[in-house]
Amino acid sequence: MITRFAPSPTGPLHLGHAFSAMMAHDMAKDAGGTFLLRIEDIDHSRARPEWEAQIEDDLHWLGLDWPRPVMRQSERIPAYRDALNRLSAMGLIYACTCNRRDIREAASAPQEGAIPTGPDGIVYPGTCKRAGNEPEGAAMRLHMDRALDRASPLWFEETGPDGGRQEITRQAMIEKVGDVVLARREMGTSYHLSVVVDDAAQGVTHVVRGLDLFEATPIHVLLQRLLDLPTPIYHHHRLIRDEHGKRLAKRDDARAIAAYRAEGHSPADLRARLGLTPAP
Ligand code: GLU
Repeated sequence: MITRFAPSPTGPLHLGHAFSAMMAHDMAKDAGGTFLLRIEDIDHSRARPEWEAQIEDDLHWLGLDWPRPVMRQSERIPAYRDALNRLSAMGLIYACTCNRRDIREAASAPQEGAIPTGPDGIVYPGTCKRAGNEPEGAAMRLHMDRALDRASPLWFEETGPDGGRQEITRQAMIEKVGDVVLARREMGTSYHLSVVVDDAAQGVTHVVRGLDLFEATPIHVLLQRLLDLPTPIYHHHRLIRDEHGKRLAKRDDARAIAAYRAEGHSPADLRARLGLTPAP
């Protein structure tokens, strides 16, 4: 078993991240497997080396360890480009020059009711699909219709709450996901593409992460199928909330692990508070 914790170094590690990391770690250790750390730093405008150092320090304090060198997504751009080129050679990619406002206007124009949204926000209304735009300076989108023609049926195994075999229907992919961006203009990749390429490159067998990413998983399964990569088993865990029931955010400094450390809490306290058993 190989699990991973894949933080984006855009803020301090908080209780929700610690829960995710410890759960992925414990699951691997209980099975005699390996726990990996991967730094998801493709967003240059937000990722900071200071956060990366602080995250590693907090994870060590929690008693977690992992093999080195750590995979960093900023060093993997050629691998993402290769994957995108493969999809492009299959005729599944088109260039899109729309900005957020264009998308909102085009999506609301024909509709009376609510604008359809999915894991990445508004479902793209397809404006650039037939335009034949130059890839220079454009975002790259997946031609969902064609992709599904090549990759159905789709499903994955979930072991989190309400787990079991998850069927992914064509209708849900068209209506709720649509032509997702696989390469953002300023990065040449996206979260979805990078995570799929890297989970496969690291041989991850079990993806442990928060339920907030459950809805993105069908996109990942589709990309795995198109790129001939194995689909891991997924475990989406409950989200850690504050006392008002609100999900913890990066800026929620009160729940930063650094704050608990400064207040004299121990890793065992945090495990108990999160309902986790002592470290294996
Ligand atoms: N980097 C993502 C985040 O920090 C997590 C990616 C994943 O676990 O698939 O939200």
